[in-house]
Amino acid sequence: LTDRLSNAFKHLKSKGKLSEADIDGTIREIRRALLDADVSLEVVRSFTGRVRERALGEEVSQALNPAQQVVKIVNEELTAILGAGVDRPLNFAKNPPTIIMLAGLQGAGKTTLAGKLGYWLKDAGHTPLLVAADLQRPNAVTQLQVVGERAGVPVYAPEKGVQSDGGEAVAAPGQTTGDPVKVARDSIEFAKRKLYDVVIIDTAGRLGVDEELMKQARDIRDAVHPNEILFVIDAMIGQDAVKTAKAFDEGVDFTGVVLSKLDGDARGGAALSVASVTGKPILFASTGEGLKDFEVFHPDRMASRILDMGDILTLIEQAQKQFDEEQAREAASKMSEGTFGLDDFLEQLQQVRKLGPMKNLLGMIPGMAAHRQALEQLDEHEIDRTEAIIRSMTPEERRNPKIIDGSRRARIAYGSGNTVSAVNGLLERFEQASKMMRRMTNRAGMGGIPGFGG
Ligand code: GDP
Ligand code: MG
Repeated sequence: LTDRLSNAFKHLKSKGKLSEADIDGTIREIRRALLDADVSLEVVRSFTGRVRERALGEEVSQALNPAQQVVKIVNEELTAILGAGVDRPLNFAKNPPTIIMLAGLQGAGKTTLAGKLGYWLKDAGHTPLLVAADLQRPNAVTQLQVVGERAGVPVYAPEKGVQSDGGEAVAAPGQTTGDPVKVARDSIEFAKRKLYDVVIIDTAGRLGVDEELMKQARDIRDAVHPNEILFVIDAMIGQDAVKTAKAFDEGVDFTGVVLSKLDGDARGGAALSVASVTGKPILFASTGEGLKDFEVFHPDRMASRILDMGDILTLIEQAQKQFDEEQAREAASKMSEGTFGLDDFLEQLQQVRKLGPMKNLLGMIPGMAAHRQALEQLDEHEIDRTEAIIRSMTPEERRNPKIIDGSRRARIAYGSGNTVSAVNGLLERFEQASKMMRRMTNRAGMGGIPGFGG
């Protein structure tokens, strides 16, 4: 997919103004590249339709560099399909235990994922319990027990209750009898009694979609009312992704998707199809057989991966910079009108945050070392804290930070879970930034004559 897309953009790069024929040529290449990557036809059609419409619109014809703008549009549309540009966190129950059910075809990676998810949750301070509700396949229970032992997460299995606690698996070889619905239901009671706060239910899969399997999954779902039903799909499945995803969407109405085997050759075709066809968010990616080969899915990073080529990334980055400059100009004009508030500041921070994933990618491109240093100074936690503080302010306070006196500072600190000195620090930095921007604005107003800055 990557190479094809990079070809699609190659002939755009050197162009200034783009004609409709240029754009159509590029769109044709993009279409071919996506189809080659097993993205489904209907997804490809709607995708290229949207890109074409935007590419022919004003934002491209008025852009300083139209080709970059087209690349940026492609990136944005990819990100939008993959999850509206935001990470979707796990949905936890208000009253524990949180119940997570895994569904998907045999071999999709459910059991492996159960271990990874358990490990990840445990690491985050939770007390997960894995539940062996796959009683279809010989040794499925044993497999989960091995996985649980490796992850140090207890496993609830039929008949004997907890088979392994704190990682000590007791094998129950070849256990294939029993009622998976009952196991699931009992496991929830067990988790409540023993105060496990997340229950991960591993279910059976078949090699193809089959109604009996789907009914069993539905019965488990209706017995335990999961907070999340995660549909696990092998990213290398190709064109079948759409059919399978639709079947599970109709069959169990899953709440989120996990892409497994993203460590393989798959370049995101399945991700694009599944997300687009079901409209369901992708929550996690599984990237290997090890416990730690697991990550929270970031739509923007996946979009970048699909467009993963040095020159294309550079183009996007330049387009991004151009975009940021526009934002900065807007902010500057607000400054000179005296209407630049903390709300605007927050917006700018989010711009900076958007560079986050870009930061990682840029680091890999030769010749970007100079930028790297500046980028590395962006601290996600710092931005988080600043955001929390601004969000704890009233609209009036954001518009007019001068009114934030001592008691307001204390309230904001308390409300955002920060210290008063963190609030003070932010207000100071905002004041400095305002001053600097005022200076920049004035200088621009004076035709850039030095010495006329505020
Ligand atoms: P299940 O039938 O859905 O429970 O699938 P399993 O968890 O048993 O996984 C099937 C096979 O795929 C096993 O050999 C796993 O080791 C392998 N597997 C699962 N997830 C990944 C992954 O993210 N990357 C790779 N390379 N292999 C995986
Ligand atoms: Mg399994």
